[in-house]
Amino acid sequence: MVTFLAGGTGTPKLLAGAGDVFAPERTAVVANTGDDIELGGLLVCPDLDTMLFLDGGELDRETWWGIADDTAETHDELHRLATAADLPTGPQYLPADAQTAGRNIARHRRFSGVAEFMHIGDRDRAVHVTRTSLLDAGHSLTAVTRRLADAFGLDRELLPMSDDPVATMIHTPDGPMHFQEWWVGRSGQPAVEDVEFRGGEAASVTDAVRRALADPVVVGPSNPVTSLGPMLAVDGIREALVDTPVVAVSPFVEDEVFSGPAADLMAGVGREPSTAGVAEAYPFADAFVLDSDDGTDLDRPVVRTDTALDTGADSDRVARAVADALAEVA
Ligand code: GDP
Repeated sequence: MVTFLAGGTGTPKLLAGAGDVFAPERTAVVANTGDDIELGGLLVCPDLDTMLFLDGGELDRETWWGIADDTAETHDELHRLATAADLPTGPQYLPADAQTAGRNIARHRRFSGVAEFMHIGDRDRAVHVTRTSLLDAGHSLTAVTRRLADAFGLDRELLPMSDDPVATMIHTPDGPMHFQEWWVGRSGQPAVEDVEFRGGEAASVTDAVRRALADPVVVGPSNPVTSLGPMLAVDGIREALVDTPVVAVSPFVEDEVFSGPAADLMAGVGREPSTAGVAEAYPFADAFVLDSDDGTDLDRPVVRTDTALDTGADSDRVARAVADALAEVA
């Protein structure tokens, strides 16, 4: 068995065509939940859902979130109502006292559903209704995710990083805001001054994740700050990574990032936005997979290949490089 740590883009892209090297039934995925928010009363888990939809054959591969060809009638109606009622649009945090009331898993990340600031499709929403209802009936996020994985026909074990709430907060000159407000609501503005994983110190690793992390681990080409950072903040995960063979794929080619806000976030937390900075952020990684054009000199074994992940053939090639790197350290 091999366990992958995933955010919402890099690792799913790697797994999308890696089945010949890493068969789904022989792998587990631990997904980041720092990006999760409660929106209009529903718990939305973007990174878990991307894996759910990818492995279920339903993912919108243009965006790497949501269900392909989903309708959005409810979302559109929320906007029509807000406009007709002259209500505000854009991300709206519920009041401060609401952030620590209600269901525990949604602490510090509760948003109004008025003019829903994230695009939620109709079938996508059905997942959030089911998940939230099962959570409210007393099931853990791990147990609920297992049920949803069955519903989508997954052969792979899909695990949330914790059953406790961890909220990724971006500190900016305009004050702290949840990652989704900063990234989706404000397009990655304003400047990042720091990143906090609120709740991290009280969150613990689940038995299922502990078991999965006893196997060799692959850190896909993820955002080291907002996808791996929340996991490393959970008590027990960093320790487990130190104790098992870990291969990490860089999301950079030297100091060029493939996509997304990783460079700004790395700089914001005082790390070099580059492969060298990623290696520093992952002291537990025993080997790296770097792009053939990435000449970064690391103090650990490196396997190089073209790390662009646009097609199934790309995933297969990078997966073989990961397997080679694992063979060196496992
Ligand atoms: P999220 O979408 O914020 O949850 O992001 P992830 O942590 O899953 O992944 C974001 C990272 O994926 C970014 O830092 C990108 O550089 C990286 N990424 C995206 N596409 C590719 C690719 O084709 N190849 C590689 N190596 N990395 C990629």
